[in-house]
Amino acid sequence: MHKPQFSLEVFPPRRNGPVGSIYDTLDGLQGINPDFISVTYGTGKTADRTATARICHTVRQEYNIPVVAHLTAQYLDKQQADEALDMFKQAGVSAVLALRGDAVEGREPTGVFKYASDLVRYIREQCPDLKIFGACYPEVHPNSAGVVDELRHLKTKVDAGTSNLITQLFFDNDDFFRFVEQARIAGIDVPIEAGIMPVTNAAQVRRMVTMCGARIPKELSAMLERWGDDPDAIRQAGVLYASQQIADLVSRGVDGVHLYTMNHPCTTRRIWANVSALFKEV
Ligand code: FAD
Repeated sequence: MHKPQFSLEVFPPRRNGPVGSIYDTLDGLQGINPDFISVTYGTGKTADRTATARICHTVRQEYNIPVVAHLTAQYLDKQQADEALDMFKQAGVSAVLALRGDAVEGREPTGVFKYASDLVRYIREQCPDLKIFGACYPEVHPNSAGVVDELRHLKTKVDAGTSNLITQLFFDNDDFFRFVEQARIAGIDVPIEAGIMPVTNAAQVRRMVTMCGARIPKELSAMLERWGDDPDAIRQAGVLYASQQIADLVSRGVDGVHLYTMNHPCTTRRIWANVSALFKEV
């Protein structure tokens, strides 16, 4: 049987935040040895366009872990895309996670790359050997007209050169497996890694759920109700919930698990302590 992948996601510190905090995050993740760490790309007006590449370089060179750079398309022109790809190459990235990115108020898209698949096509032309990852949505993207459109567009993105998919966060594994089944029927046959976000506080979950439209199942809703105002209790319950989700995913044959660390190494380590034995060849 295959060994599922286990990967982590970190994000660059805020522009006005302490630069060294990314080292605290990466130091705190030492010993986990994930298959790769991915580094997000900021779309905001004040986002530093070099931050992702710089952190990728650190992860690769100083921590010796394979690294995947996120890149969002809709505010890029071709020259900026080339610059980003060049920086990623210098940083030694294993792959680029090509995304459209969310709309930012007051920023006009360049119109060069309207969808992630446009960026995938461009990267494939410019860097034929670079591995390209893409995002997907077990509960359908909030902009989508429905599951049929969603899968049609996802198939286009895969056919354009995407070799691996990572899902948006979800809290009910049945939603994930239903989506994987539909994707396979639609002829999407690349590995699909399950994106898991540990619940660490009630406000954060409610914010994320509003942004991405994820459904809160009744078990999680009960946890939020009971321990939402108790930071230690909700964190502990969140670690258990994510660990249980991961155990179930692996036992049902998931291709991989991508943990959104939210730059919280302690939570990540506690989850890893619960599930590390599950990521062995069997
Ligand atoms: P797309 O694949 O382009 O899809 C977006 C929507 O457009 C979907 O509804 C799709 O069905 C539709 N669509 C696609 N093609 C067409 C077409 N040809 N015609 C009509 N409709 C079409 N955001 C960041 O800013 N930075 C990050 O680092 C980041 N990392 C992420 C990592 C993961 C794993 C995930 C799941 C999301 C991440 N996001 C990030 C958020 C992401 O940018 C948003 O969800 C964004 O709204 C969609 O990006 P996408 O690449 O999935 O878009």
